[in-house]
Amino acid sequence: MSQQSLDAEVLIVGGGLAGNTLAGLLGSEGIDCIVIEAASRIDQTETYQNDPRALAITHASQQILSSIDVWQRLPKERIGRFRGMHVWDQNGNGEIDFDSVDLCQPELGHIVEQSVLQGVLEQVIGFMPKVRVYHNTCLEDIQWHADHARVSLNNGEKLSVQLVVGADGARSASREMAKIGSKIHDYRQKAVACVVKTALAHENIARQRFLTDGPLAFLPMHNEKQCGIVWSTTPEHAEVLLALDMASFNLALQEAFDYTLGEVVESENRAGFALRRAEAERYCEQGFVLIGDAAHSVHPLAGQGANLGLLDAASLAQLVLEAKSRGRNIASRRVLRAYERWRKGENKTMMMTMEGFKYIFENQSSPVPMLRNKALDFANSFNPLKHIIMRHAIGLSGDLPLLAKNRMA
Ligand SMILES: Cc1cc2nc3c(=O)[nH]c(=O)nc-3n(C[C@H](O)[C@H](O)[C@H](O)COP(=O)(O)OP(=O)(O)OC[C@H]3O[C@@H](n4cnc5c(N)ncnc54)[C@H](O)[C@@H]3O)c2cc1C
Repeated sequence: MSQQSLDAEVLIVGGGLAGNTLAGLLGSEGIDCIVIEAASRIDQTETYQNDPRALAITHASQQILSSIDVWQRLPKERIGRFRGMHVWDQNGNGEIDFDSVDLCQPELGHIVEQSVLQGVLEQVIGFMPKVRVYHNTCLEDIQWHADHARVSLNNGEKLSVQLVVGADGARSASREMAKIGSKIHDYRQKAVACVVKTALAHENIARQRFLTDGPLAFLPMHNEKQCGIVWSTTPEHAEVLLALDMASFNLALQEAFDYTLGEVVESENRAGFALRRAEAERYCEQGFVLIGDAAHSVHPLAGQGANLGLLDAASLAQLVLEAKSRGRNIASRRVLRAYERWRKGENKTMMMTMEGFKYIFENQSSPVPMLRNKALDFANSFNPLKHIIMRHAIGLSGDLPLLAKNRMA
């Protein structure tokens, strides 16, 4: 099929954070993209309601979002920042602290509500002449041919494109259509997330307390007494927490958090999220590639899911743009395998590190709690180790795509 008869060079299935970021990065460099998104366009007025999912955003993600003018357009009063992090264990006295000063950075990262970020991303790509977004539209079928893919949509339309990107989240339909399996591990945990107001100011510190059933995180938002919380616990306990009236929930939360920020005086928009780890067996085929949660989903305990998806998007965009500038086929296995080799290793390292943390913190069988407390105290007092862990987690090190590199780091 000749280039002329293509409807777009790239079709992105799923306009979440990963898919829309990729559209922005490619569209701003002149690549014709179509995004199909099952949900409606985000109502900008609705984003002024607090979103239960407050995301920790790394330096690397901030760089990527800045490169397409998304970061600059976020409302300042919706961006929280954390300059320190305090992690401790309910079952013992082990604790670890991280401070941005040790890394010569003004902060370790930022906190932004998912729908606020998503709303601004939609706005920015909506102005790009090379990006078309079809909302309320679902993928029905994909047929791959030698030099193009034919994609059928639920509105009856059929599109011919060079490359299909699966960015349709953890339950990716496009991944299934490409017959790529996914290894799934059910954590038997559910996260309860919401925004709360506390009696004491958070002082721009992100805090995480490991409880017997899972971690409880308080992420500092712009208002000095407002935090996004993520409480990972057993599915049964999560159902109980979701059903409580506000006063009883606040009481349960302040007790679980050991009154670290005093009383919880307000909480709103509680939502539950089932937690599972998933990893696609492969990230690509000729003419097809996976990014974001469609390729991998991780436990929210380290706040990395969206950040890994943005790194996928920036890495893929870099390789596609390089291939195009050299006159190569952007949908070839050669280009897509280079992306897979790059990102699969990086994502796996982060996933395994998180799994290690999770295992160590949740294991209550003797002597793990005692060793855990000793290890935490050792790590806390051994600055070189702390710096290595932290620089990686906040996106200052690792095999980063060019767009994610912090020129100040
Ligand atoms: C409680 C909680 C807290 C979290 N905290 C953090 C954090 O602090 N930091 C962080 O980095 N990450 C965090 N995450 C993870 C983060 O939210 C996800 O990793 C991220 O949103 C995934 O983005 P995505 O674009 O890959 O997928 P998704 O957000 O799932 O987007 C996929 C999109 O595809 C669309 N879609 C699906 N199927 C189709 C189809 N067939 N046709 C068309 N469209 C389709 C969907 O409507 C959706 O918009 C958290 C997650 C949870 C649950």
